[in-house]
Amino acid sequence: MKYVDEYRDGALAKDIAAAIAAASDPTRNYAFMEFCGGHTHAISRYGIEDLLPANVRMIHGPGCPVCVLPVGRIDDAIRLARDPRVTLCTYADLMRVPGSKGMSLMKAKAAGADIRMIYSSLDAVKIATAEPTRDVVFFAIGFETTTPPTAVALKEAMARDLGNFSIFCNHVLTPVAMRAILETPVSPGEPPIAIEGFVGPAHVSTIIGTEPYRVFAEDYHKPVVIAGFEPLDVLQAILMLVKQVNEQRAEVENQYIRAVKPEGNRTARALCDEVFELRDAFEWRGLGVMPASALKLKDAFARFDAEKRFAIRTVQAKDNPACECGAILRGQKKPADCRLFGTACTPDTPMGSCMVSSEGACAAHWTYGRFRQQANVAPAAARRAS
Ligand code: SF4
Repeated sequence: MKYVDEYRDGALAKDIAAAIAAASDPTRNYAFMEFCGGHTHAISRYGIEDLLPANVRMIHGPGCPVCVLPVGRIDDAIRLARDPRVTLCTYADLMRVPGSKGMSLMKAKAAGADIRMIYSSLDAVKIATAEPTRDVVFFAIGFETTTPPTAVALKEAMARDLGNFSIFCNHVLTPVAMRAILETPVSPGEPPIAIEGFVGPAHVSTIIGTEPYRVFAEDYHKPVVIAGFEPLDVLQAILMLVKQVNEQRAEVENQYIRAVKPEGNRTARALCDEVFELRDAFEWRGLGVMPASALKLKDAFARFDAEKRFAIRTVQAKDNPACECGAILRGQKKPADCRLFGTACTPDTPMGSCMVSSEGACAAHWTYGRFRQQANVAPAAARRAS
């Protein structure tokens, strides 16, 4: 496939892996976080960790929008969908995310709730237009990448003067979560997880550009390399991070120059600024309640705000106590550290959000990495011991 296969070339991948091995200092360890679930998926899918030297370790981050949505907001959506007036429109992954008491949108739909899976925010607008007697709610989630399409849907609903369309807004912000990871103790009294640099998000950065990451380089002395989602992109970003660490540099570098401009997408950002404003605080699964970490509709658009229209008051709810999603999303544990992984919890029977989306660390590890990891236990241990 033109413009994709070039970034999946096995021989080139081996060359870059060799360059990483040559550049890495064997007397020390390197730990980098790939913030974004798309990178987690690529790392599992293409076996990138198997290509890295034993002293270069990747830590999965929380950049999977389905994974970080807290149980309380899933419960809100289920309550909304059970309202006989409401048609709830949602992207497919959200259907299977467990809420409280074993419920999910999928189970609510099976019990009769009017829940429709859509592929685009504008599909929800079309449904509202075609079915004026229904109260159509778009369950909007995601990082900065999916925020502009939600704004587009709102503007389209305004243009059509739809009185039966609203948005349940759950859009969250990447830089705030990156900062939380660098500042959150592993447990009370302990330091935050040791990360020496970030593989920065691809799609998010096409919107926000490179500037919002500067704070991590300047204030935290953590290099950030924005990378595309193909395997050669990820490997090249890791090589760039290793070089920065070796040279004691902390800069924001852009590996993904074919898509990310320093200023991001000004049109999309202006549209979002027009429609959204910061929430005082928002709960993230695994990261807790973080101030100014999410968006809500501005008061000028209150008539499209499902939280106001349906007087939604989110109640915090606990995850399954055996699920380690929280620690995985904070980069403190790996999927295989969870005793439910691959036993009670699989993509067919997800017990936690990280097993639902293909960007979730547990789902990616199950789909691509589980067997390889088992096969590599002995060689990896031998490599470390040598
Ligand atoms: S394997 Fe399942 S239960 Fe365990 S952390 Fe992952 S999603 Fe949660």
